Amino acid sequence: MSSELEEGDVAAARRLAADADRVIVKAGTNSLTDADSNLDDEKLDKLVDDLEDLLSRDKEVILVSSGAIGAGTGRVGASTGTVEESQALSTVGQSHLMHRYTESFARYDRKVAQLLLTQHDLENPERFTNLRNTIETLLEWGVVPIINENDAVATEEIRIGDNDMLSAATTIGIDADLLVTLTDVGGVYTGNPKRDPDAERIEAVGTNYDTVQEIISESTSDGFGGIQTKVEGARDVSEHGTPAVIAKSTEPDILAKIATAKPVGTVFLPINGVRDD
Ligand code: GLU
Repeated sequence: MSSELEEGDVAAARRLAADADRVIVKAGTNSLTDADSNLDDEKLDKLVDDLEDLLSRDKEVILVSSGAIGAGTGRVGASTGTVEESQALSTVGQSHLMHRYTESFARYDRKVAQLLLTQHDLENPERFTNLRNTIETLLEWGVVPIINENDAVATEEIRIGDNDMLSAATTIGIDADLLVTLTDVGGVYTGNPKRDPDAERIEAVGTNYDTVQEIISESTSDGFGGIQTKVEGARDVSEHGTPAVIAKSTEPDILAKIATAKPVGTVFLPINGVRDD
């Protein structure tokens, strides 16, 4: 698939991703919880280990973490039947999630901060400026900002994929140099890799975007988890001139691999191949 793209452009995008100073990493619920919807300590610690690798490279790291509703579901033992239940579960899960992040980052003597946002915070310039200032201050202090939707108040946000758009909007809004979307599949595939053994990983997305979109909309009828919004988010970011990578959360040292320009996941080429700043 990437043969449609110039190899040099793909390599340049990988390089740009590797050299990013400010990185947004988005982790989905599946990357944090087990089959019973309980927070999975091993998965969470693995994510934090990977983030620590980026931090030890002197990069600024902002995490967009899902998992509030998921972790709440396991903890309360209730179902997410109604919107009200999902909202309530998110409040239980969110504090549990932050407790675990605090513990896990403490292994590296790092502090974390919680930022809960709604669509209004992204749309309103004054609120967004405040958010930006807060994040800048936290980064100056060396504290890791951890962002999620404020699910308790944001009914329209409670549906799969929203954190993909939230992380894309944050990447663009705070001038990050890279968006990494971690998921339980290894990137964008030509089919559903969980079911189709012939599905191939698409190495890079750029001028082949329309073809990739067609492939994805065909395989989405197959119902594989939210790849469409991940692709849309990554595309938004790349249209802004910033590279994005969709990669597998369980792959060993996944963020270190991206930071050393290894060909993992699917890289989205910044439009024109370079940032325009
Ligand atoms: N904010 C939701 C949660 O933390 C997840 C939304 C999403 O994954 O897009 O449970």
